[in-house]
Amino acid sequence: MKFGGTSMAGTERIRRVAGIVKRQQEAGHEVAVVVSAMAGETDRLVNFCREANALYDPAEYDVVVASGEQVTSGLLALTLQAMGCKARSWLGWQVPIRTDDAHAKARIEDIDAEALTASMASGEIAVIPGFQGVSPQGRVTTLGRGGSDTSAVAVAAAVQADRCDIYTDVDGVYTTDPRIVAKARKLPLVTYEEMLELASVGSKVLQTRSVSLAMKEKVRVQVLSSFIDESAPPADDLPGTMIVSDEELEGSDMERQLITGIAADKNEAKITLTRVPDQPGAVAAIFGPLADGNINVDMIIQNVAKEKAETDVTFTVPQADLLRAQAMLEERKEAIGYYRLISDDKVAKISVVGVGMRSHAGVASTMFRTLADRGINIQAISTSEIKVSVLIDADETELAVRVLHTAYGMDATA
Ligand code: ADP
Ligand code: ASP
Ligand code: MG
Repeated sequence: MKFGGTSMAGTERIRRVAGIVKRQQEAGHEVAVVVSAMAGETDRLVNFCREANALYDPAEYDVVVASGEQVTSGLLALTLQAMGCKARSWLGWQVPIRTDDAHAKARIEDIDAEALTASMASGEIAVIPGFQGVSPQGRVTTLGRGGSDTSAVAVAAAVQADRCDIYTDVDGVYTTDPRIVAKARKLPLVTYEEMLELASVGSKVLQTRSVSLAMKEKVRVQVLSSFIDESAPPADDLPGTMIVSDEELEGSDMERQLITGIAADKNEAKITLTRVPDQPGAVAAIFGPLADGNINVDMIIQNVAKEKAETDVTFTVPQADLLRAQAMLEERKEAIGYYRLISDDKVAKISVVGVGMRSHAGVASTMFRTLADRGINIQAISTSEIKVSVLIDADETELAVRVLHTAYGMDATA
């Protein structure tokens, strides 16, 4: 069972979470619980790091931001004990959850679940802070924002759980963020692949890595709400959204829509380098150092060269890495040979996702036409087999998502 930040925000909410956990145990299950920091806490801690040092050392950043989950794991264990349950917390290094040393975005390498399973078998509820692990050097690491989902799936795989229930503040995965589009519809089933694309393009309901891990380890994942009372159907009745394989989906007689979902991501920033020499090696000189610096480049456009054998290169990076990327590129200005660096963090990436795209043409053109009709300018485009993404002005995000949701016929009728 995993509980997100809103579910853990304060004593009263934690008491409700403890009630849900207790009921699950009383239904005859052994349970491990992974918790997030209280809502807003990680943002607050990240800000402290920025204030202390804009170009912060990621290893020290991890020490600071991992603390939010330490607090909530202890509090949940205390609350469960107050309700008469046996419970204890297990910090990342205590389990241990071993990761690599890519601080602030570490990857889980392995979880030693022996002590954990023994404790669970003895009737003790294991409460594990999400988001954190321990590096080969014995230092605290964190898994990237939203990483508690990945902690939960990894723990579920390690203890060979029957299911990994991700409790959050919505009752499942919707066709788009239900907080942006009131007419969004809840999806009873989503395939791993679709969820992977949706998450990677900004549906933060699940962290991307948690979905790829679940797919690889064949963990059954359900997304459901923690904002329920005792009369709500039990988690075992699958009241939320199940993430399933293609085969399971085909086995169900659900009517599949062409598009499964629409996502928006405001966490990218656009960088343009003007007048880059149009010659072999120029692009490698830009992206090589960024890759070495662990900065993920997403969309890339290279304009057609003019006569002067110069070209503009535009690409996007995570907003959190913008300052570092700029510093790296400015340091290499001579070597790359560009003229100006222009950055813009007021952009949003809007994506439509669906396995139905494989067999249907026209998804992209519907998207372009719909946005054009509203006067929304497209700054960059990228596609994959089951996804089309466009970069637009951040101010037009909500409008774009709404008109696309309608254009693809996804609006709920009620
Ligand atoms: P938690 O703190 O529980 O991890 P998150 O805030 O990370 O919760 O994720 C839940 C939020 O994801 C919802 O409140 C909702 O606004 C957002 N969200 C974005 N896209 C979707 C979607 N397609 N379906 C459901 N929720 C979505
Ligand atoms: N607390 C961390 C974050 O806000 C991890 C998580 O909640 O999943 O990113
Ligand atoms: Mg989350």
